[in-house]
Amino acid sequence: MGKPLLGVAGWPVAHSRSPAMHNAALRALGLDWLYVPLPLPVERFAEAVPALPASGFIGVNVTVPHKQAALALADEASATATAIGAANTLTFVDGAIVAENTDAGGLVDALRSSPNGLSALVLGAGGSARAVAWALREAGAAVSVWNRTPERAEELARDLGVAHVARPLATDLLVHCTSVGLDRSSSGPEGVEMLGLAGLDPPATVVDLVYGSEVTPVVAWALAGGARVVEGTEVLVHQGALSLERWTGRPAPIAAMRAAVGSAPGLSGPR
Ligand code: NAP
Repeated sequence: MGKPLLGVAGWPVAHSRSPAMHNAALRALGLDWLYVPLPLPVERFAEAVPALPASGFIGVNVTVPHKQAALALADEASATATAIGAANTLTFVDGAIVAENTDAGGLVDALRSSPNGLSALVLGAGGSARAVAWALREAGAAVSVWNRTPERAEELARDLGVAHVARPLATDLLVHCTSVGLDRSSSGPEGVEMLGLAGLDPPATVVDLVYGSEVTPVVAWALAGGARVVEGTEVLVHQGALSLERWTGRPAPIAAMRAAVGSAPGLSGPR
């Protein structure tokens, strides 16, 4: 019999840091398991996933563009995944597919102190903004959402019972959940303009879900204003840790996962 398998299903998925992170974690736990990238186009996802348990898969992470489809095909879903409307973790249990969303818990764990009672601004209204807004609201923060396309912020706010704002405003905590900073057209100071942050002082804590090989524009803006920064890699590590704990039943080796994921040059991990 082969090794137990885990993986990340996405399209594209070659750039994902999850295989390196999870394989480092499995080694640290002394488990002879393997975590593999699973490139699955949209039209293949629903037929491929149910076939995975027979091939030795214990569970999979799910990333763009499959998070809603993952929830739809599951036999059971957690209250968190159902409320957010998307799943990033599937576990195969006795013939059933069980869906969870660890993006929410991963964000809260990455903060390292409770956001209860804080005001929080979420930038973006896509899939990750939805998980973040829900997680912060559940944890007791007063959440406002801003998005380039205001109608999407309004819809998110209505669905999750949070506020939406016409322009970014001063809060205790800001979480950046758009794709600004991912490509060249938005990776410089213009990224800060695109998000309506130019001229605004950063709040005490800034989380940027976007990460890459360079310091992102939101992180540069936050550091220049003296904010405490939580990098996207830290959120990646914590959502991965929660997934791994579901699959293995063991506490995740956070330090090994963090070392495998790395930080952008000039940043040194959690602060
Ligand atoms: P998504 O569903 O595609 O949403 C994209 C969001 O970005 C939308 O709100 C969109 O606004 C906004 N946007 C795109 N281009 C923009 C621009 N030029 N100016 C202003 N806003 C713009 O994406 P997602 O899944 O939420 O992911 C968002 C980012 O988070 C990605 O970079 C992803 O890599 C990252 N992420 C990181 C983690 C982690 O663990 N660190 C987890 C999940 C996601 P409109 O509605 O106006 O189009």
